[in-house]
Amino acid sequence: MPQALITGITGQDGSYLADFLLGQGYNVFGMVRRSSTVNFSRIQHIQDKITLLSGDLLDLGSLISILQEYEFDEVYNLAAQSFVPTSWEQPVFTGEVTALGVTRMLEAIRSVDKGIRFYQASSSEMFGKVREVPQTERTPFYPRSPYGVAKVYGHWITVNYRESYGLHASSGILFNHTSPRRGLEFVLRKITRGVARIKLGLEKELRLGNLDPQRDIGYAGDYVRAMWMMLQQSAPDDYVVATGETHSIREMCEQAFGFVGLDWQEFVVQDARFIRPAEVDLLVGDASKARRTLGWAPAVSFPALVQMMVDNDLALAQQEG
Ligand code: NAP
Repeated sequence: MPQALITGITGQDGSYLADFLLGQGYNVFGMVRRSSTVNFSRIQHIQDKITLLSGDLLDLGSLISILQEYEFDEVYNLAAQSFVPTSWEQPVFTGEVTALGVTRMLEAIRSVDKGIRFYQASSSEMFGKVREVPQTERTPFYPRSPYGVAKVYGHWITVNYRESYGLHASSGILFNHTSPRRGLEFVLRKITRGVARIKLGLEKELRLGNLDPQRDIGYAGDYVRAMWMMLQQSAPDDYVVATGETHSIREMCEQAFGFVGLDWQEFVVQDARFIRPAEVDLLVGDASKARRTLGWAPAVSFPALVQMMVDNDLALAQQEG
């Protein structure tokens, strides 16, 4: 049975990846950091099938101990301070976890077992003020947030350990992906939750920042498949994973409110508090390399994704109501 370690297993992607790897016959381990309240809601349904280990990307010793204790074939580094707006409020912490955390894990792998295959969760936010459209693996980076800057570091240190030490280290440059398990602060989830609560009379309005930015947005369940595919290749590499379509925040509102028969313009209020200090206007990825080399393609369309999330949030709002 192959053994995989997932950092960030309590997050959106970690939970989907754990589901996927269990389906592939893996022995799945998840690294969780200590907190005073347990937050395992996304992995509750599989908790008896996985092993949770205590560790933190801020603590090199904990990473080394985990790798020494179990023989992993693959490590998926999904843990991060992943919310862009928070990265302006906590830029140093974001750098410690999202940037240097990657080096700590790579160092742990280098010192314990160089044969472990490594996946780094890079991000389309690295393209920021985009240098070309669409963005590929060769597009220069121009990050526009401390989060994006930290991810650029994480990306290049992954490439560097691959080239310096011959590690099987791959970086997935993933464009936005979401799901019913997405954190409530992320925009499409915020919209679908708002729609459900407005529809059921629990809220009267939805406050959002800039409605113009365009995002290439897919379903998280599709994207974790690409992570695994990268580590099955004989040689490590970097891949853009994206749908190739863009949708503005305004369009997301239109779709989501439309599904419950409401006009978004009556409920959405623009609020300056949610506007980023530096915006990323247009992200759209060209995933031809992933399609060609990995055989990856997304299965869930944008309308199907929005519908899935609205349905889920309606069910949750009904319970709350
Ligand atoms: P998420 O839901 O915010 O999950 C982040 C995970 O990281 C959580 O499990 C969190 O644990 C863990 N974590 C944070 N700090 C940690 C630390 N110091 N040590 C150990 N674990 C720590 O993020 P996601 O959406 O699943 O994204 C997964 C990864 O892909 C992230 O690196 C993200 O930046 C990247 N990414 C995401 C997208 C996207 O659209 N979703 C796109 C491109 C790249 P707690 O539960 O304890 O907070």
